[in-house]
Amino acid sequence: MPRNNELFERACHTIPGGVNSPVRAFRSVGGTPRFIKRAQGPYMWDANDTRYIDYVGSWGPAILGHAHPKVVKAVQEAAVDGLSFGAPTEAEIRIAEAIVERMPSIEKVRLVSSGTEATMTAIRLARGFTGRPKIVKFEGCYHGHADSLLVKAGSGLLTFGNPTSSGVPAEFIQHTIVLDFNNLHAVEQAFKEAGHDIACVIVEPIAGNMNLVKPVPGFLEGLRALCTQYGALLIFDEVMTGFRVGPQGVQGLTGIRPDITTLAKVIGGGMPVGAFGGRADIMEHLAPLGGVYQAGTLSGNPVAMAAGLATLELLSEPGFYDRLAAQTRKLTEGLTERAHAAGLPFCADSVGGMFGIYFSDTVPTSLAEVSQGNIERFKKFFHAMLIHGVYLAPSAFEAGFVSAAHDDAIIQETLDIAEQAFAKV
Ligand SMILES: *Cc1c(COP(=O)(O)O)cnc(C)c1O
Repeated sequence: MPRNNELFERACHTIPGGVNSPVRAFRSVGGTPRFIKRAQGPYMWDANDTRYIDYVGSWGPAILGHAHPKVVKAVQEAAVDGLSFGAPTEAEIRIAEAIVERMPSIEKVRLVSSGTEATMTAIRLARGFTGRPKIVKFEGCYHGHADSLLVKAGSGLLTFGNPTSSGVPAEFIQHTIVLDFNNLHAVEQAFKEAGHDIACVIVEPIAGNMNLVKPVPGFLEGLRALCTQYGALLIFDEVMTGFRVGPQGVQGLTGIRPDITTLAKVIGGGMPVGAFGGRADIMEHLAPLGGVYQAGTLSGNPVAMAAGLATLELLSEPGFYDRLAAQTRKLTEGLTERAHAAGLPFCADSVGGMFGIYFSDTVPTSLAEVSQGNIERFKKFFHAMLIHGVYLAPSAFEAGFVSAAHDDAIIQETLDIAEQAFAKV
């Protein structure tokens, strides 16, 4: 990997750790990160011109495959007309209309530039709307890197957590209550003790940042009921799941309506975009109508809007998600079969174009259970796949992503490589 090694060494001189987002550094699997030169459809090529079948898809956005010609064309056409104006454009209305039309719980939506911005502002809005300080989040759910969300659970119930990042004063997270994902009883207790101080519950309704972990039956329904009972807002962080698990996110799959939804990743089609939206009466608390401040120099950027709109249009083709889910299942079922044939404890799960693989006997339901999987075996498997041209997420705590460009031949090639890899781990 001479060129990758050379680039990584050079990057480390001017960029902390050589990367602009930590998971890219391969620290949890070891080895040198691949520097990508270009990507097309299901493939990426690194600096050595090695080709990989990509199951990261830019962590979700590349749902159509990389550099879909219609998305690239939309971006090129928008760019010719100007890159940014700092004034409103019609494209922003069109994407807002597309989101409101598709997402059941969103009546009004504001566009920002990242998922972090969307969740940070959604929480400010929930606090502004309810006039309450506390928020509830779940261990293993990631909601971007705003200070009050970088917190890990303490030991007992309602013990306030410790910051998971240095640079976050304890005072900044004193209003953040961290509970176990899928433990509704803990949420009931928290509301009993502090219910009238809780502004919101924020949750990844299908978690994708501790590997893939689905909610157990009744968990999301219970959150909805408790929030309604106590006058708190329910925030679905659908930054990853929005337009990824189905045409209407998890709220479409479950019928549960959050008060606020956050989006990013797929809605930008590969460009930096985030959004948060929900009930009109809540959204109207935002500036310039209301007292909750939020702004962004590049919010609703015209080039990003063009990429997002072109993507959303292509996702609306009939049968898109059925095909995507079927391809994803072919992958997970094929992997499971081959792992078991090699005598390994292994299981997998998927929803829409998102999947999890676990070196354990049962599908996990919490961060603690994910942590009990065989992480060392995952590392070996990751490298055995990478060396033969399959690029998986470089961590046992990340979900994987399949795109519309992953056809039967690509899945079969992946499974053939996996068969060899399983034999070696
Ligand atoms: C990726 C992600 C974020 C953060 O989005 P960025 O665009 O990386 O800031 C927030 N929430 C969830 C669920 C995510 O998957």
